[in-house]
Amino acid sequence: MIMKSMNIIANSAFIILSLFVSNNVLADHTWNDYHWASKTSTINLKVIDSTTADWDQELSDSLYAWSRLQSPFIFTIDSANDRSKTRKRCNMVIGQMRVCNASYGRNGWLGMASINLNSSGHISQGTAKLNDSYASSWTAEMKNHVMCQEIGHVFGLGHTSEDGSSQGTCMDYSQSEGSQWPNGHDYQLLMDMYEHPEDNNSYDDGTAVNAGGKCKGGPRKCGTSKGNFEYGKGHKIISADKYEVWVQPEADGTLTIHHIYLVEGHH
Ligand SMILES: [Zn+2]
Ligand SMILES: [Zn+2]
Repeated sequence: MIMKSMNIIANSAFIILSLFVSNNVLADHTWNDYHWASKTSTINLKVIDSTTADWDQELSDSLYAWSRLQSPFIFTIDSANDRSKTRKRCNMVIGQMRVCNASYGRNGWLGMASINLNSSGHISQGTAKLNDSYASSWTAEMKNHVMCQEIGHVFGLGHTSEDGSSQGTCMDYSQSEGSQWPNGHDYQLLMDMYEHPEDNNSYDDGTAVNAGGKCKGGPRKCGTSKGNFEYGKGHKIISADKYEVWVQPEADGTLTIHHIYLVEGHH
């Protein structure tokens, strides 16, 4: 299992590095080909809304945007738990995506997307977190931009650019008004990524096997509260101007990968 994890780490470093030298980044800006397994071309993903009223509008606007046009994603939203402790931990739930906001501290990151890869290398759970400790950074445009981008990462998308130029999508690093939502290319890319049927669903499709719930068997089997990443722990595999990627091997042999949106001028 460790060997497998290390291969995934080595692969991700290689593929992401090769993105830098590609002059055709726009044509394929997946995040290292990470994706959820799906038997069908439509993925009804359960979303746990652990955001406060400050972010509810941004979340629902982003989910609306990410389910438009040819997007393979539709969402079932569960807004059960907004307690401060829950939002701070933002623990992953198997088969689902959780979105949280909290004051995570002035630790250098504005947003964080985390995905857990199962033993077949598929995304099996994920979180998107927004850091309220940088209140001054959160213009209306930036709230939409970062919310939309972190969710895009949880679907397996990477950036269209990292130099601040705008491609008219939230997957770029522009703070312009035009970069708050996905563009047509993002929908096309998602459709391409998810059009091939797989043997199983790695998301919670409501069947008993995949139904969300607590893993029984303690930390050795289940890992300890996945997604509850303490920045600065784990392995940093990419340190770029505007973002970092960290990996965390879990006790159960899976791998959690964190995509960090750095605060401007953090370096
Ligand atoms: Zn696959
Ligand atoms: Zn990003």
